[in-house]
Amino acid sequence: MRLGRVRGITIDIHMSWIVIFALVTYSLGAGYFRVTFPEWGGGVLWSVSLLSAVLFFACVVLHELGHSLTAQKHGISVHGITLFLFGGVARMDREPETPQVEMRVALAGPLVSVLLALGFGALGWAFGGLGGKHPVAMVSLYLALVNGMVVIFNMVPGFPLDGGRALRAALWWYTGSVARATRLAAASGKGFGAFLIASGILLAFAGNLFNGTWFVLVGWFLADAAGTAYAQTLSQHALSGTPLSEVVPWPDEGVTGETSIQTLVDTRLGYNSPDPVPVVENGRVQGLVGIPEVKRIAQTEWTSTTAREAMVPVAALGTVSSDRDAWETLVRMSDQNLEWLAVVDDGEFRGVISPRRLLEYARRRRLAAT
Ligand SMILES: [Zn+2]
Repeated sequence: MRLGRVRGITIDIHMSWIVIFALVTYSLGAGYFRVTFPEWGGGVLWSVSLLSAVLFFACVVLHELGHSLTAQKHGISVHGITLFLFGGVARMDREPETPQVEMRVALAGPLVSVLLALGFGALGWAFGGLGGKHPVAMVSLYLALVNGMVVIFNMVPGFPLDGGRALRAALWWYTGSVARATRLAAASGKGFGAFLIASGILLAFAGNLFNGTWFVLVGWFLADAAGTAYAQTLSQHALSGTPLSEVVPWPDEGVTGETSIQTLVDTRLGYNSPDPVPVVENGRVQGLVGIPEVKRIAQTEWTSTTAREAMVPVAALGTVSSDRDAWETLVRMSDQNLEWLAVVDDGEFRGVISPRRLLEYARRRRLAAT
């Protein structure tokens, strides 16, 4: 669900966000505001609760915009911001290239939240503070408190939380190795996730089932995100600055147009070799046959259908030249949902590239580096 757009950054809501939005609104209406203003009728009570929840999530968007606009300023393009079950996330096309930029992008979000907490705190105080019980004061103080909590939670030094990114930037700057810095920061993120899971289980056994479950969920999400972010960072650093010519295992001699699909399936295509096979005639590549093309043909026709009949012609494929950056190509492919691209230099076919092949190359590079 699309909310809007700020400087080319789209703001979306994931379905799971509805759950947390409803929980926050409910806890305000059934707890905080009901206790503070017992004289309020249901209409006022729930309107104020709803408004406060909306303002809270507007603050989360501003936090993410802090990260996003700082990243944009340093030449990193931001696809958008998504609100989901565990808060907000800004999707960027790549990670910062220097520890200095990483530090700025990481701290910009919490800085926005600190300013919001101070601003709402001042507003609450101007309207009489806790003792005055003015509605504006009570809403403002709530927002000051939750923005403060957003800062505290996000500044835990576990990757990929903001504090973990700041820790990684510092370690990266100190050690000069982004891989080592990421490994340490991700381990810290997994540790924090495990700590939350353990606390959640203890809470549940102590009778607080709701908060316990929530802690376990958040902890599990964090530990998982730390692992994914770690793998992605290493892939990016293995692929960035590498031309495709180093990744494509050339030359692929391909098969002739007369080859039957049955032979292709027996000899070239399968779970272990899912990349498409070039169809070569008179020394020129005419097209590619991959698993999707084979699947379109009934199995009984496999012996009578030729590769030429089944192939996707080269002209119909997306192409990329071999001097392009491997990481940028991977980002382009996942953005456009492309399964493969033909690598072509000046009209001459070089090979096929798929996200799987790029990631496999990254994994081999990583193994070689450790
Ligand atoms: Zn943040």
